[in-house]
Parts: sequence; structure tokens; C-alpha cells
Amino acid sequence: MTETISYDVIIIGSGLAGLRAAISAASKSKKLSIAVISKVQAMRSHSVSAEGGTAAVLFEDEGDNQESHIYDTIKGSDFLADQDVAELLVENIPFEIYQLDHWGMPWSRRDDGRIDQRKFGGYSFPRATYAQDKVGFYEMQTLYDTCLKYENIDFLNEWFCTSVLSNSNEFCGLTAIEMKSGTFFVIRGRAGIICTGGAGRIYNFSTYAYSSTPDGLHMAYRKGLALKDMEFVQFHPSGILPSGILITEGARGEGGYLINNQDERFMKRYAPEKLELAPRDVVSRSMIREIQEGRGFKHESGMSCLKLDLTHLGPEKIKERLAGIREIGIKFSGVDIISEAIEVRPVCHYMMGGIHTNIQGGTELSGLWAAGEAACNSTHGANRLGANSTAECLVWGNITGENAANHALRRLDTSLTIQVEQVTEEEKRIFDGIFRGRGEANPYEVRKHLTDIMDDKAYVFRTETSLVDGLRELRELKSQTWKHVDDKASEYNTNFVNVMEIDSMLDVAEVVLVNALNRRESRGAHARLDYPSRDDEKYLRHSLTYHTSAEPKIAWHPIAFTRYAPVERKY
Ligand SMILES: Cc1cc2nc3c(=O)[nH]c(=O)nc-3n(C[C@H](O)[C@H](O)[C@H](O)COP(=O)(O)OP(=O)(O)OC[C@H]3O[C@@H](n4cnc5c(N)ncnc54)[C@H](O)[C@@H]3O)c2cc1C
Repeated sequence: MTETISYDVIIIGSGLAGLRAAISAASKSKKLSIAVISKVQAMRSHSVSAEGGTAAVLFEDEGDNQESHIYDTIKGSDFLADQDVAELLVENIPFEIYQLDHWGMPWSRRDDGRIDQRKFGGYSFPRATYAQDKVGFYEMQTLYDTCLKYENIDFLNEWFCTSVLSNSNEFCGLTAIEMKSGTFFVIRGRAGIICTGGAGRIYNFSTYAYSSTPDGLHMAYRKGLALKDMEFVQFHPSGILPSGILITEGARGEGGYLINNQDERFMKRYAPEKLELAPRDVVSRSMIREIQEGRGFKHESGMSCLKLDLTHLGPEKIKERLAGIREIGIKFSGVDIISEAIEVRPVCHYMMGGIHTNIQGGTELSGLWAAGEAACNSTHGANRLGANSTAECLVWGNITGENAANHALRRLDTSLTIQVEQVTEEEKRIFDGIFRGRGEANPYEVRKHLTDIMDDKAYVFRTETSLVDGLRELRELKSQTWKHVDDKASEYNTNFVNVMEIDSMLDVAEVVLVNALNRRESRGAHARLDYPSRDDEKYLRHSLTYHTSAEPKIAWHPIAFTRYAPVERKY
């Protein structure tokens, strides 16, 4: 049975980007009805686990300046960022920090009462605005509380969106399943914003929530919209073993350092100036080199690793500023960071790529925007600096919320027509193809195999051989008949949802591999052992990938340069 409901603005995702967009749209006009849809309870979105901070220039009177934040972001991106986009981020984020403060955000403060900031990788100034080591949790609480003040925002929690609907190349709604009842809905809308977050669960060793799958990217991709720069996956230096849970870069910002099995602070050989606070791509590569050259440790799980030493910070500082990660260390690694160095290894942590948008967050479909980690507006280029992502979510949550609201307001009197064939086609895809599918292989084994392929073949260092093998294995996996759902219940059928997620994971992982293979250079987080240099002549451009019934189709897109010519990146 299909039911239909309508809203003026529909936001998919209730992470930082989605909540910020909802407030922005709701404050534009009381006339607008706004839906925030989330496949998990709103506050379980991955954003709650952001730990370290949000980057902003707050202390110009103490020597920081916006030009430096812009340059650090562009240099960090290995010159693949759109420079006008980096400018917009830097100009807008101080407002967002104070706006959150006014909404009740408990920022950590200095003794003089001003908001405090800590050091973070790749920055020339301490710029990560923090709330102990739980910045995402407090930001989400603050935004969620603020959303509740608006009567025109509805939360549709535990609704799983499956596709984008359009009419004459204009957004007109979505299809979704209300998980509680299993009912299939058409949600008509005048404007939409995809805020479905990152897709880092396509890797097994990953800092992401289990629900961080590429559903939003897949919806856009299937609709014919491009995914941009998907080869750039960030590996964070400090995932604990064996789970991959994150130890924030804030730990190194507070003075923690990495050691090898010779008790040597090896980063001095790779980044003599910035040491452990070089950008993540540089630190992760250095760690893997140490391991490959025999200077790593062996964890009891069998995995190789290095150690992060925080013992010299003393119990007081750790308890005050890094309480969350101390707890994580004790619970998930059996190590108290007050008294012992903790084993860490580079871990999948962020997707620089996402749905191709312009500087305003607009996608190639009129009426549809994307914001936060699901979007690629090209702020981060080939490598994101830590603390710039929550910043991006807030800035483009605000921008896209306003744009979507204006778009909907201009169309309040027009009626929305849904193309019935699109709905029927989607019902066939998910109910006939998946729910009643006759696949034989176990979908959960397919998921595990897929994430193992990504860990093994498209990790910190990549080669033609590893990527060709990875793509072959992935395509073999895709060609197996595996789509089926054992649980036939209507209510809360997480088995059904999981299989739809796995479908999106296979396609999006393929896009990552195809692009990693196609970019025969090393830039930012994409490090090819067989093409170790950056090749500006051929590859100083964004990749776009379009869905076709055969293989993914790649096109190129220019970078916006406004102020800095590319130079060699040294730290
Ligand atoms: C452990 C960790 C620590 C981090 N620490 C920091 C930090 O300190 N500073 C920083 O700047 N960045 C940090 N990051 C990165 C940053 O937190 C994320 O990039 C950002 O929070 C993503 O927010 P988002 O709003 O884009 O999406 P998310 O918070 O990931 O939310 C995605 C939303 O989309 C919904 N959704 C997805 N698919 C569907 C569907 N099919 N139907 C309905 N709803 C759907 C989900 O339910 C969820 O509500 C960290 C990331 C991780 C994983």
C-alpha cells in the first residue's frame, strides 16, 4: 500500500547539516512546512560522535586571520579545493560558532571566559573550537533543542528514504519507508536537501557509525546526478584496535605524540615542522611506511600498528580535556591513556567526495540541494583538514536551508505532480528486486567481503594491481545473486533496510575504485605507489562519475582558482 504526504521542504538526514538546514529554512518563514527525515533516531546520527572540534578564526586580535585559514584549507586539499568555496567556509564559520553559543552550546572556555581553541593538524594557528572531546554531541544537542522551538519542523525518525522523484528536471519529492509500519510513502516536496552523511562503512576498519552507508549518494547517482572526487578517502591516523573507534586528533593537538617500536618519535623524519600535527594524509602515510619498514608493533588481533603516547600530559589535563577518549581506550582497547601508550592504526574516517554541488550546495537537479558530508561542494579537495567538516556542515546547512526555503516559497501556490511511473519503478526495484528477491548468497557475507576488499585494495597506498584486483573482486561479488530478505515482517524490518544499504554500498564502492584507478597520480589522500608524484598537467581537476546501465562514466570538472597557484606541499 502506498501513502502520500506533502511538505514544502524535505531534508534527508538529521546530522549537523540536516539540523542546521532545518533551522535555517524554518526561520525563513512560518508558512513553510519542513520535514527532517532520518533512518535512525535523530540524535543517533553519526555527527554525535565528532570529538575534536570545529575550525574557525576567532582570535584575530591575538594574531590569527582568515587568509591563513583559507590557505591552510587549500594547501591541505593539495590544491584540489575550489578556492571560492574555501573562502566562503572561512568567512561564514565564525558566525556559526557564535550562533551556536547563543543557542546554548557549552563551548570549552579559557580562564578569561573567552571560547577556547585547540591545535589541530595542518593549521597555522590553534583553531579547533571544542567542547571537551565531545564537540559533535554538544553541537547536535544544541541544534536539536533549537529545532524543537519551531512548530513548522516535523521529525520523521526511523524512516528510510529510497529514491528522489522529479518532474521535468525539477525535484518534486521522495519515496520512503516508515520503518515502524513498513508502509511505503511518496513524500511530495517543493525543495529537498540531501544531508545523508559520509559513506565510510564501505570499509571494514572504519570510525563511522554502522549506519553510515551511501544511501543518499546512491539515490542521487541513480537519479543521474554526478558523484564528485570519490577516489579521495581520508584515513585518520588514530583508530584503536581492533574496533577502529577514533581517538581524536585533539589528543595530538593537546600534545600527544606517535612512537614506533624503537621508542622514536618518527614524525620528525617525515614532517619536521608540524610533526604529528601534519595533515592526516601525511601522518597516515608515514605510519604505514614505519610499519612496512619493520618499526611497527603487532597488536594481539594480528594487525600492525604504532602507539600514541599521552602519558606525559598528566591525569589532570586528560581528565579535563580528553575524558571521552580515555573512556573509549579503557572500554574498547583495555588501555588507560593516563598510564600507557595506546595502539593505533590509520582508519577510514571521511569521504572528501560526494554529490556534486555548486558553491551554493545546489545539485544538477533544480530544487535539490546537498550539504554536509554527503555533498561535495569542493571545500576539502583531495584531503580535508580535521575540524573543517563540522564547520562545513554548519555553514552549508545554513546556506542550503535558506536556498531551499526561498525556492519553496516562490512555488507555494503551484501544485506538485508526481510521475507515477517513477514510483512504480521504485516499488519494483525495492519490493520485487530486493524484498521478494531470490538471491542465494548471504547479504551480510557480501557486505563483509565488500568491506574487506576496500580495506585491502584501496587503503592508504594504492597501485594499479591492487585496484584492478579490487575492482574485479567487487564486480564478481556484485554479479552474484544475493538480493533477498529472510525476514518477511512489515514492522521494523531492519533486514530489508540492511539489504538496501548493501546494494548502495556495492555501487558506491565501485565508483571509488574506478576513480582511484583512473587518477594516475598521487594527490592528498589518494596515494598511488606506481604514480608517486602529483601531476597537475593531467589531473588538476575534479572527477565526476555518472551512473549508466553498464560501467560508471567518468567526466572532469574544473577547479575554481581565485588566489593561490599550486605549489609543492611541505610540512
Ligand atoms: C568518529 C568521528 C569523529 C569526528 N570528529 C570530527 C571533529 O571533531 N570535527 C570535524 O569537523 N569533523 C569530525 N568528523 C566528521 C564529521 O563529524 C562528519 O563529517 C559530519 O558530522 C557529518 O554530518 P552530516 O550532517 O553530513 O551527516 P551525519 O551526521 O552522518 O548524518 C547522516 C544522517 O542521514 C540520515 N540518513 C542516511 N541515509 C538515510 C536514508 N536512506 N533515509 C533516511 N535518512 C538517512 C541518517 O539517519 C543521519 O540522520 C568526525 C567523524 C567521525 C566518524
